Amino acid sequence: MNSQRISREPPVRIDAEAEVVVIGAGACGLVAALRARAAGADVVMLERDASPTGSTSMSSGFVPAPATRFQRAIGVEDDTPGRFETDILSKSKGKSIASLARLATETIGPALEWLSDAHGLEWIVLDDFLYPGHSRHRMHAVPEKTGAALEARLLAAAEAAGIPIVTGAHVTTLYTEGKDRIAAVGITRPDGAKEVLACQALVLACNGFGGNSALVRRHIPEIADGLYYGHRGNTGDALIWGKALGARIEHLSGYQGHGSLAHPHGILISWALMMEGGIQVNSEGLRFSNEHGGYSEQAVNVLAQPGGIAWNIYDARLHAFAQGFPDYREAMAAGAIREAADVTALARATGLPEAALARTLSEVATYQSGETPDPLGRDFTGKPVLAAPFHAVKVTGALFHTQGGLMIDDQARVVREDGTPFANLFAGGGAACGVSGPDVAGYLSGNGLLTAIAFGFVAGASAGKLTSAKGS
Ligand SMILES: Cc1cc2nc3c(=O)[nH]c(=O)nc-3n(C[C@H](O)[C@H](O)[C@H](O)COP(=O)(O)OP(=O)(O)OC[C@H]3O[C@@H](n4cnc5c(N)ncnc54)[C@H](O)[C@@H]3O)c2cc1C
Repeated sequence: MNSQRISREPPVRIDAEAEVVVIGAGACGLVAALRARAAGADVVMLERDASPTGSTSMSSGFVPAPATRFQRAIGVEDDTPGRFETDILSKSKGKSIASLARLATETIGPALEWLSDAHGLEWIVLDDFLYPGHSRHRMHAVPEKTGAALEARLLAAAEAAGIPIVTGAHVTTLYTEGKDRIAAVGITRPDGAKEVLACQALVLACNGFGGNSALVRRHIPEIADGLYYGHRGNTGDALIWGKALGARIEHLSGYQGHGSLAHPHGILISWALMMEGGIQVNSEGLRFSNEHGGYSEQAVNVLAQPGGIAWNIYDARLHAFAQGFPDYREAMAAGAIREAADVTALARATGLPEAALARTLSEVATYQSGETPDPLGRDFTGKPVLAAPFHAVKVTGALFHTQGGLMIDDQARVVREDGTPFANLFAGGGAACGVSGPDVAGYLSGNGLLTAIAFGFVAGASAGKLTSAKGS
C-alpha cells in the first residue's frame, strides 16, 4: 500500500544534497532536469524503477506542437499557439483550465526546438493523417516514432549533460520546513533501506494515479473496471503529497482512455485506422458510436458493449497504411490481426454474426457514397469505401493515464488552495493538472506528452533559476 507522507519534522540525518531534485524519470522529469541543468543548477533525478521507462516508454511518443521549424520544413506555415489552444478548448468544450492551455501551447514549440538545438533530439512531423481534433499537422515524433525511443533519447541527453539518475529510489516522504518549503526528500530503497536527500527545489514528475486502483475507483469510477495500460509505478504520489500539503487539485475525473487496445494481446492499435475509414462493431456486428468522436471517450463506449470488447474492421488499403506504425507491426507479429477474403470469411474469422456484419458494411457503403447520412453522425465521405479483402482486430477499452492533478502557475510552481504558490515546489506532466478538463472526452490526442514536456520545461527552468538566484 502507499506510504507517501509529508513530514513537518526535520529528518534525523541528511545523506546527500542537490540543488534541484526531480522525482520521476519519464519525459517530464528528464526535460525538467535538462532545463534545470542548463540554468546552472546541480540536479539529481530519483526514479523508483531499476531502469527508467515510465508511461513515456509505453506511449506512441507523439507530441503536438505549433509553429515549429519542423512543421515549416514540411510546409505547415500557418500554425500558431492560439490555433492549437483553440483546438484544445474545443475538444474539452471549454472546460480546460485556460491558463494551463495557454502555458502548454506557448511553451511546447520552443521546448521541442530547444531539445533539438541543445541536446540533438531530432523531430519529424507526422503528415500522413490528421489526428482527431487537430486543425493542423502538428504531431511531432522522434524518427523511430515510438515513446521508447523518445525516452531513450532523453535519457542519453541527460547522461551527456552529466545528470545523475538514481534508480531504485522510491521517494516516500517530503520533509518541509517553515511555510511548507520542501527541505528534503526521503527515499526507500528496494531492500527497505532509507536515505534522505536535501534539496533547494523539488520537481514532481512522477505522473498521475492510474496505477492506484483505489484512487481510480474513487475519482474515475467509470473506468475502474477497465484495464490500466499505463506505467504501474504511477501510483498517485504527487497527488497524495499535494493533498497533504493543501495544494489546489483540479480535474481528478479527467483522463486519457483509449478504445482500441488489441485484446487480449494488450497492444495499441492506432486510431488512424478509424480516421482513415475503418469502423468498430460490437459482438453483434453493429456499430455503436461515431468513431470520429475521439479515441479517449471511445474507451467508455467500447467497455459498455457486451463483454467490454469491440472489433476494428477495415480493409487491405488500411492494413497497408497501418504497417507504418510500430505498434501495429507488433500486433501483426503477435497474431492479433485477422484477415478474410470476404464478409463470410470475416464473420468466420471473428465469430461475428454474418448477416448483421454484411448489413453494417453495406450501410457504411451508403454513408461513404454520401447516399444516406450516418445516424451516428460520422462523415464517411472523402474516404474510399471499405472493400474485400477485410482485416479485423478484437479490441477493448483502457485507461492510459490520468489527467487531473496539482494546479500550477505559469512558472510551474504548485499552488495552494488559495492560489498562492509554494516557494520551491514544482510539478509537470501527469503530476500536474492537464489541459483536458474533467471528462474523458476532453482529451485531445497528444495532451499527455504535451504537458509532460511543456510543463517539465517550465518547471526545470524555474527550479534552476530559483537555486542559481539563491546561490548568487
Ligand atoms: C499506451 C500509451 C500510449 C500513449 N501515447 C501517447 C502519445 O502518443 N502522445 C501523448 O502525448 N501521450 C501519450 N500517452 C500519454 C503519455 O505517455 C503520458 O502522458 C506521459 O508519458 C507522462 O509523462 P510523465 O513524465 O509525466 O510520466 P511517466 O513517463 O510515467 O514518468 C513518471 C515516472 O515517475 C516514476 N515514479 C512514480 N512515483 C515515484 C516515486 N514516488 N519516486 C520515484 N519515482 C516515481 C515512475 O516510475 C515513472 O518512471 C500514452 C500513454 C500510454 C499508456
